Amino acid sequence: MRSTPKNIAILGATGSIGRNSLQVIKALPDRFRATYLVVRRNVDGLMDLVAEHRPKGVALLDEAAADAFRQKAGDSLEVLSGAKGVKEIVGRDDVDLVISALVGFAGLEPTLEAVRKRKTIALANKETLVAGGELITRLVQEHGVDLIPIDSEHSAILQCLVGEEPASVAKLILTASGGPFLTTPVERLASVTVEEALNHPNWKMGNKITIDSATLMNKGLEVIEAHWLFRLPPERIDVVIHPQSIIHSMVEFVDGSVKAQLGLPDMKLPIQYALTYPNRTPMNGARVDFPGIQSMTFFEPDRRKFRCLELAYGALQLGGTAPAVMNAANEVAVEAFLDRRISFQKIPDLIGRTLDAHAPGPVSELNQILEADHFARSHARSLLS
Ligand code: MG
Repeated sequence: MRSTPKNIAILGATGSIGRNSLQVIKALPDRFRATYLVVRRNVDGLMDLVAEHRPKGVALLDEAAADAFRQKAGDSLEVLSGAKGVKEIVGRDDVDLVISALVGFAGLEPTLEAVRKRKTIALANKETLVAGGELITRLVQEHGVDLIPIDSEHSAILQCLVGEEPASVAKLILTASGGPFLTTPVERLASVTVEEALNHPNWKMGNKITIDSATLMNKGLEVIEAHWLFRLPPERIDVVIHPQSIIHSMVEFVDGSVKAQLGLPDMKLPIQYALTYPNRTPMNGARVDFPGIQSMTFFEPDRRKFRCLELAYGALQLGGTAPAVMNAANEVAVEAFLDRRISFQKIPDLIGRTLDAHAPGPVSELNQILEADHFARSHARSLLS
């Protein structure tokens, strides 16, 4: 017996996760349908995706981009715009599952709406949990929503936890590739270029996350994400550098046994696992070739060289609005680095100084997160000028 395909709304459709999701969905047409596509402002990219995937409707966060898209697309499909339009799409009855893959803090509000409307959520936007983890996880529980991670490390942990009691878990071990500057001497970091920072050894991703990977802030954000998803304190979430990116993360249990999830660095696997969870479905593609890999190596991250990792652990310890402030300052700093306004080493400086200027408050409602985010952005920008 065949059931009807699940209707999926993809937030961030033209990004790296969005495009990989569309490939996964296209390969399983009996099970999934890309019903709505949401982007921030990429008009041409969205036009191409619409021609290929024929969604029912689209939304663009940026109003001017939405107008430009309407001019090009005519009446061929429904076009919504702005935060309101995105919110409307996420809440619709013909959406079963939301892939949350917008970049940065912009992902928070639509994801909150998906929780409120009791949609199943496949979450790629880690900033949502970093800034709003306390609020989101509380609402997820209250509404009985499935929140399934797409981030490869958290997908790995979820896969390792299948069949295990929460009380059996000793700690989580997140693996990190170490990024392009793993072996770069610390005194060289001040003069690395944007091009060098964007040259990630293992993963092809968007600019923001690629810079986060180079500073190790990405791993810091993932520690906070893991804290909220799996409910463990920071001292039971470790980071180990594993440059081959074959082990995507591990769980150590109370008896000393360790489970790891392995695979090639390809986001289609964690995306498909999130869509089919808790089941697995065949997928074509390359397989791990162990004789070809030959060796896998592991070592401690250098926390003095990569200060962002330490800042993230510190923000998580502080709690409340501190991670939201750290996240916002990081977004401002990464943008300034990409615009060549600050050096690579100024990224942790800017974040640290913004955190120092903030007294963390509680995060029981959205407004408190928005205020903290706003404070951090304007403070970080004032430090830039
Ligand atoms: Mg990751």
